[in-house]
Amino acid sequence: AEEQLRQAQKMEAVGRLAGGIAHDFNNLLTVIMSYAELLESAISAADPLRDDVAEIRAAARRASRLTGQLLAFSRKQVLRPRLTDLNAVVAEMVALLRRLIGADIDLRPELEPQLPAVEADTGQIEQVIVNLVVNARDAMPHGGRLHIRTRRVLLGADAIGDVPGARPGAYVVLSVTDTGTGMDRATQERVFEPFFTTKPTGKGTGLGLATVYGIVQQSGGHIRLRSELGLGTTLEIFLPQAANAELAAAIPEVAPGASGG
Ligand code: ADP
Repeated sequence: AEEQLRQAQKMEAVGRLAGGIAHDFNNLLTVIMSYAELLESAISAADPLRDDVAEIRAAARRASRLTGQLLAFSRKQVLRPRLTDLNAVVAEMVALLRRLIGADIDLRPELEPQLPAVEADTGQIEQVIVNLVVNARDAMPHGGRLHIRTRRVLLGADAIGDVPGARPGAYVVLSVTDTGTGMDRATQERVFEPFFTTKPTGKGTGLGLATVYGIVQQSGGHIRLRSELGLGTTLEIFLPQAANAELAAAIPEVAPGASGG
């Protein structure tokens, strides 16, 4: 518990610092982008300089996206928790995820039917899934298999030791498993630290799993990491089943336009 508190405090301090820098930096990038745009439109299409200016603008846009990630991580985002069906969130993302991972990785969603709802912010859950899937992809440069699975789990008093911080109860688990490089012990211990990355500069920010950690924490959930060098990695997100989850599942959704209004 003490270790978790220390981690949370560290993340908050780093987050605040990073957020401040990212904010100012982003303003400067906006200036760079808009002037590059102006220049680009002033240069005739035949002029080779135009491509150079386009490169500047593209790089500034990439940089802006990166600082955007930093800001999203550090800012206390406005949360809109509501009853969420994880199966629906995953199902809606499958096409996007397939594009993200490319053709060499085989994506297999395995969604447990009649999954109870969880209390969560859909946008944040999407962020979690994208971060986990991008990591899985990066761990499988030569292709492999990616499983996204949902299931319900009852954690008994005997089983909670296995899930750091969890209390006994009913959970919905979202897990992402890859057949990638896996991680050694030392790496596993540091993955949730902000800015910890083993990826080459420009590729990794080290904020992916720190963000996931923050979101899961805010949603009252827990994370279990299992990884074996050379075999692959499984990250499991345990979210508490919503109090009125079964009730919500029983209410049929109103089809769009069916209200007649
Ligand atoms: P980033 O992806 O920008 O490096 P993350 O916080 O998402 O930042 O991940 C931190 C580090 O954790 C990665 O650089 C990598 O070393 C390790 N890691 C995360 N997910 C996986 C995975 N599925 N397989 C192997 N290593 C992973």
